[in-house]
Amino acid sequence: MKTDEYQELYAGLIRLHILHHACEEPIFGLEMIRELSRHGYRIGAGTLYPILHGMEKKGWVRSTTELIGGRNRRVYRATPKGRKALNAARDKVQELFGELFEDGRPRKLGSPGQLA
Ligand SMILES: [Zn+2]
Repeated sequence: MKTDEYQELYAGLIRLHILHHACEEPIFGLEMIRELSRHGYRIGAGTLYPILHGMEKKGWVRSTTELIGGRNRRVYRATPKGRKALNAARDKVQELFGELFEDGRPRKLGSPGQLA
């Protein structure tokens, strides 16, 4: 799997995305990989699972093993702490969104070297 050259920029967005879905409903890894790829993020199990483990270590999600479709899967649910984290980050996203977009459309960037 080719790693995206902007992976570092997307790292936080991917975490927010996962947290958002874990707040909505229980999620599991494979399903999340599909969901993220639907949004254009190429992310493999080798990247996703460490992220999920990290989020569990932070106390944002809690995992349990459940039988789904005849397979044991590790299922993740957002904790109250995770919901609080998502709310805090949502404010930041809105703030940034306001700068990146005007009337919901991407803002035209000035040419490099041009003073605002
Ligand atoms: Zn999504």
